[in-house]
Amino acid sequence: MGFTKEECLKYVQENDVRFIRMQFTDIFGQMKNIAITHNQLAQALDEGVLFDGSAIKGFAGVEASDMLLLPDPSTFTLIPWRPQQGKVARIICDVKNHDGSQFEGDPRYILKRTLQKAHDLGYVFQVGPECEFFLFHTDEEGQPTTITHDAAGYCDLAPIDQGENTRREICLVLEEMGFEIETSHHESAAGQHEIDFKYTDALTAADHIMTFKYVVKIVSQRNGLHATFMPKPLHGVNGSGMHINMSLAKEGRNVFIHPENPGELSETAKQFIAGLLEHIKGITAVANPLVNSYKRLTPGYEAPVHIAWSPMNRSPLLRVPSPRGAGTRLELRSPDPSCNPYLTLALLLEAGLDGLQREMKVPEPVNENIYNLTPEQEKALSLERLPSNLLLALEEMEKDPLIQATLGRHIFTKYIAAKAREWKAYDEMVHQWEIDSYLKIY
Ligand code: GLN
Ligand code: MG
Ligand code: MG
Ligand code: MG
Repeated sequence: MGFTKEECLKYVQENDVRFIRMQFTDIFGQMKNIAITHNQLAQALDEGVLFDGSAIKGFAGVEASDMLLLPDPSTFTLIPWRPQQGKVARIICDVKNHDGSQFEGDPRYILKRTLQKAHDLGYVFQVGPECEFFLFHTDEEGQPTTITHDAAGYCDLAPIDQGENTRREICLVLEEMGFEIETSHHESAAGQHEIDFKYTDALTAADHIMTFKYVVKIVSQRNGLHATFMPKPLHGVNGSGMHINMSLAKEGRNVFIHPENPGELSETAKQFIAGLLEHIKGITAVANPLVNSYKRLTPGYEAPVHIAWSPMNRSPLLRVPSPRGAGTRLELRSPDPSCNPYLTLALLLEAGLDGLQREMKVPEPVNENIYNLTPEQEKALSLERLPSNLLLALEEMEKDPLIQATLGRHIFTKYIAAKAREWKAYDEMVHQWEIDSYLKIY
């Protein structure tokens, strides 16, 4: 709502707000919060709220566990589904060390630091995400299943689409929370949906992605359904992506538009693309953070596999959606909604800026459909691939100094260590597929 401190206090006093949730995001993209009562708000806004950083995965060690949440009043909004008498609001917070100094492990800070760098160069980074998710039934105990009664596909209507009421409610709640919703539709897989909100500056976009996931889960639960942003919950059908639409503005003008020919891309846009393609392998470990993420990035399911771009078709990793002109933007199709949006957007911006600063040359675009290439065609086009599992992505991440510089030592080290453990736990497991394929035969 863009409130100042004073406006927050006034609103809380005049509108019977009794609780304010102090929200933040850990390095693995999980939202966390501590609720304070309304009479604590003035002090919280000035001095912050103490919490135990050692109990948050990837934050502090026990030796420096006292940490502070410092509310960003501009993110104040009501939580519409909570009781209307004795209302509940939330404020997104920055995370500080107990002495008030900056905590290097706060993902929101990492994005802000990169945005500041862009700002110093005169740029504003604008982002419009497209979040996909599945709606599943719950069982008698209320536990999620992977069953959906919906048999609909892309853009189908009720009664085949069984999610329209839930989607409608999600959109209305988000509008009450200050979102501008643009479109919503049934996606290709049964039980799969997409809701798109208007592009904003990147910090607001990352805050919005976190709020979006929270709202989708809560509203679905109230409708007796389980919403999941797991990238590939079902074998054999599309997974859920989070396409990221990006543009750069300077002095209020989109600098991706070619100055003479608005139907073309500017040199800046091409260098930005080159930077993204140069660093995408390592960024994949953050934009596609789960073992499961890599089961989405396989041929045949509208998700990218090859590192390529195209000014027209939608099969490559990066495309330039039409219409051009004022709406000229790049659409990166690899990220999935399980990623930490603050870290992912920081890395995409740094990669793009690296392209500008080093005046990188953009590779030739690939204009054929590359969803289903034969090995010979792939070789002829000499296309590289995205890492095909989490381990390979982590190896790429470790090799890329830009990623370490962007994330800082704290997050870089903690992230890689935790994700390497996650990979190992998966890798050591004997999976059902192995039992089914080998047990009888060998
Ligand atoms: N669900 C697809 C993915 O995994 C995208 C489908 C689409 O939006 N065209 O990225
Ligand atoms: Mg879309
Ligand atoms: Mg889609
Ligand atoms: Mg898209």
